[in-house]
Amino acid sequence: MKTKFYLPAVILYVSIAFFTNSCKHNNSKKNNNETFINNLINKMTLEEKVGQMTQLNISIFYKDGKLQKDKLKKYITEYNIGSILNVPQKAISMEDWNKLLTIIAEYSNQSRLKIPVLYGIDAIHGVSYSSNSTLFPHNIGIAATRNPKLAYKTAEITAKEVRACGIRWNFDPVLGVGRQPLWPRFEETFGEDPLLVTTFGNQMIKAYEGDDLKQNNKVASCMKHFIGYTIPANGNDRTPAYIPDIMLYDIFIPPFKKAVENGSSTIMINSGSINGIPVHINKYLITDLLKNKWGFKGLVVTDWTDIIFLYTQHKVARNNKEAVQFAVNAGIDMSMVPFDLSFYDDLIELVKEGKVKMDRINDAVLRILRVKQKLGLFDNPFPEKEAMKNFNLPEYKNVALQSALESITLLKNSKINNKPILPLSKNIKVLIAGPAAKSLASLHGSWSYTWLGDDDSLFPKTTLNITQAIENKIGENNVICTSPDSFSEITDKQIKELKNKAKNVDCIILCLGENSYAESFGNIKDLTLPKNQIKLAKAAVDTKKPVILVLTEGRPRIINEIADDISSILLAYRPGSKGANAITDVLFGDYCPNGKLPFTYPKHTGNLITYDAPIRNQKLHTPQWPFGHGLSYTTFKFGNINISTDTLVGNQNLLIDIDVTNTGKRNSLIAIDLFIKDLVASIIPPMKKLRKFKKISLNSGETKNIKFSINKNDLGFVNSDLKYVTEPGSFEISINDKSKIFYYKK
Ligand code: BGC
Repeated sequence: MKTKFYLPAVILYVSIAFFTNSCKHNNSKKNNNETFINNLINKMTLEEKVGQMTQLNISIFYKDGKLQKDKLKKYITEYNIGSILNVPQKAISMEDWNKLLTIIAEYSNQSRLKIPVLYGIDAIHGVSYSSNSTLFPHNIGIAATRNPKLAYKTAEITAKEVRACGIRWNFDPVLGVGRQPLWPRFEETFGEDPLLVTTFGNQMIKAYEGDDLKQNNKVASCMKHFIGYTIPANGNDRTPAYIPDIMLYDIFIPPFKKAVENGSSTIMINSGSINGIPVHINKYLITDLLKNKWGFKGLVVTDWTDIIFLYTQHKVARNNKEAVQFAVNAGIDMSMVPFDLSFYDDLIELVKEGKVKMDRINDAVLRILRVKQKLGLFDNPFPEKEAMKNFNLPEYKNVALQSALESITLLKNSKINNKPILPLSKNIKVLIAGPAAKSLASLHGSWSYTWLGDDDSLFPKTTLNITQAIENKIGENNVICTSPDSFSEITDKQIKELKNKAKNVDCIILCLGENSYAESFGNIKDLTLPKNQIKLAKAAVDTKKPVILVLTEGRPRIINEIADDISSILLAYRPGSKGANAITDVLFGDYCPNGKLPFTYPKHTGNLITYDAPIRNQKLHTPQWPFGHGLSYTTFKFGNINISTDTLVGNQNLLIDIDVTNTGKRNSLIAIDLFIKDLVASIIPPMKKLRKFKKISLNSGETKNIKFSINKNDLGFVNSDLKYVTEPGSFEISINDKSKIFYYKK
């Protein structure tokens, strides 16, 4: 079991020098001048260099909840450790972060060469480890918004709040394409489509880093996890993946390649293996491709304990020393060890024995110092007082609400007497049932005030659960609730209670899904929604009242046993701080839903097929709901697709346009996905591929002409020579229910 947070509560030391130190370090010659770093490297001893390559977990500096300052000072001034990560145990206040980072900066200033420590944190869907931070929907919900500008805003706020804590390195975003819905980190992905992942991931990188990392509202991003982590064969975390080269290049590489082009500063390696080779020792991927071919100049960090993993789990090295040798020679620059000096000790010996060359060490240190310099840490390693003003501003909550609203996906909405069940009237009595009805953890998922995100007592007092938000909306007197205390225990008594209480209400809002989990704690053997929840749903259906199912879950749990009998279904993913408010706004019609599935919602455990699979027999693809599905409270009509030419030649652009009319009574946003199908190709073409998407607003009765432009690069694929090619031939464009064929010629 991974013991990430094992220390009792933190009591942080209050530094007297806290605010006064920040201006001591102005020295413009340190500004992005590589000569400065190279001179520094020339002065460094082997031990100092290897120290820089060592990253340790903050928890090792705490004992009985107290910071061991002597130990921290020793590791920084004597071992020169380059980086520290993580939170001592659970979220702490911004002020406490600043105090801790001040102590660290003071010690680095006392080291021989005064090299600052780079502190790294997982600020996933917001600043996960600061109390009172704003948490946004997890990436899976962000992708459902189809609104990259919103993704940009959430990451921009995250960068501000991370830097306000005195931290300048964020281990985010996840650029892995989510192709295995069983995988417990599915919620951290932008779903199954490479275009969505590339677009959203890169928006976030731009928002994190901006043009100048020295600005006190920007942080270094970390592309992760390079590469192939998101498709473990059996669905369990950190287990082997088998990925054909064509798929690696076609599906998994594009988001990372683009992010390298966009200048992301750091990258974290996948803990797993591809085709039997742990990625941490894959020199081809890390050095030949990433560093040499793509020209990545930033730093490569391992994931958690992954060098140790090489000999304890993967069994590709006999001992730690061999593991260090293989990983560093493959191109690792920094080891997230993270509990001891085993990496440090072994690497020093390996260099002395000539098994790791000094050039490799110098390259690693150059990359590490480069990031520190870009971040302005040599100018001022202390937390910046001005940055603190950017923490917890009221407008952040609006972005959290808007992103939750735009993510919520209406999967089903039956009619009674020809009238859709949703939205509900506010003048009714409802029964709220199910284990997610009062759970904050389920609304947030992993990385929420703790790593597992499962401690409701740590959430800000202002965060509402679904029951509270509905009570606020329609009045406490109109709400009855029956919610089991946990996801695992749903007793017959509770089922009986649901049936009894349902007698006096107009409908049942059934809140099911998943409790919070992180990484291997979320491993499951069956994608089906747990039996006890299915049983509860069947009991709700038995009451003959309309049942509205609200799903808060990180991955698509299969519900084929109940889906037909439930009246309406809302998928809220992990919607974050304002999730309950957003769900309630949608349920009661104050917001018109417009989210679209960023993955295929499977119907059967044996049919986990992505929408772009290379199959033509549609009978083999039987999802519960297809990729891109998402209903609305209004109706839209699509005109015919117009194209600028029937034959696209060479590098020309093909202009595509279509009229979309809001034919219903409500104003709404609408996301429009444009798919292209290659009709014949040298390898079996996908069923279709998302090539463009757009989000617009349409008032009731309004028509807009939507324009897209594509060229041959939007038509290609990776062929059997591993080259991205566009082959001449016929292609079919489809938008909603309309399609059009054109021809491409060289
Ligand atoms: C996760 C990473 C994370 C790291 C540091 C690992 O277990 O895989 O995503 O950045 O821990 O907390």
